Amino acid sequence: MNNKMLYFWLSLLPVMLNAQMNKIDFEEFTLDNGLHVILHQDNSTPIVAVSVMYHVGSKNENPDRTGFAHFFEHLLFEGSENIGGRGQYDKFVEKAGGTLNANTTYDRTFYFEILPSNQLELGLWLESERMLHAKVEQAGVETQREVVKEERRQRIDNQPYGSILEQSLKRAYTVHPYRWPVIGSMEHLNAAQEKDYKQFYADFYRPDNAIVSIAGDIDYVSAKALVTKYFGTIPKGKKPIYRPKITEPAMAKEVRDTIYDNIQLPAVVQTYRIPAQGTPDYYAVSMLGQLLSQGESLPVYTGLWLMNSKKHYLWVIFLWDWKIRGSRLHLASLK
Ligand SMILES: [Zn+2]
Repeated sequence: MNNKMLYFWLSLLPVMLNAQMNKIDFEEFTLDNGLHVILHQDNSTPIVAVSVMYHVGSKNENPDRTGFAHFFEHLLFEGSENIGGRGQYDKFVEKAGGTLNANTTYDRTFYFEILPSNQLELGLWLESERMLHAKVEQAGVETQREVVKEERRQRIDNQPYGSILEQSLKRAYTVHPYRWPVIGSMEHLNAAQEKDYKQFYADFYRPDNAIVSIAGDIDYVSAKALVTKYFGTIPKGKKPIYRPKITEPAMAKEVRDTIYDNIQLPAVVQTYRIPAQGTPDYYAVSMLGQLLSQGESLPVYTGLWLMNSKKHYLWVIFLWDWKIRGSRLHLASLK
């Protein structure tokens, strides 16, 4: 490498800022169908957040059907018989003055609505519809497939260095499902039949695989009664939930590779496996990652700056945590 080149440094380490937080009071309970509920009362503003986290992410996917978890994040806004057709889910929330969204990771899928607190029941109704009998039909599948393809083009295929994550994961893991990205494969989504989607919904979108949390301007007694009213009768899943128990073998040696992408400037990417989240070493590595990547005094940044002080860039582009492996990408460049 020389200092005329663009340099990229990328290391995969998870970091949580682990800031000291005030203690948060909450109540929690589990319904008979296995749904876990967490309530947090904060009456300082008249709003409430209703969220449901499903323990399903890309790691739960069949390797021949990748992208399903993220696909479902989209598909489950198609509504239900009671909610109505496409777009109605959003309309209910917007008309009530609220906002909503969802996101998917390797490990879980998360939906939320933020509403005026007198609309708590609306949020619970919408989420209970999603859990009990969302529309999982061919028409919605076709529509959302195009939406997801467009998302992939925007975020990956048409982005400079868009393939970095996909290519790095492939080399960092050989057998574990973290080896494919959350967006998954468009070929897999194309190949899937309506019955595959229905099966995925039945397998993972069930009360014994979810946590409902409600935070905001509530009182515990009535919030508990409402959650029980809307979710208490949703039946438990029938089969055991698939949790991959795949141990990634240790890397015997360094993996080096050259990838050609749709950009002229070369990049150097470094990816490391790190200890699992929750282990003592995870926290030490998190701290190390913080020291190596945050702020202008970090060694990578200083080194690049010294090599060429005319122009420099530094981006820290990813921060996320994985259940089994954590990861972090640092991206720095110099030209
Ligand atoms: Zn998406």
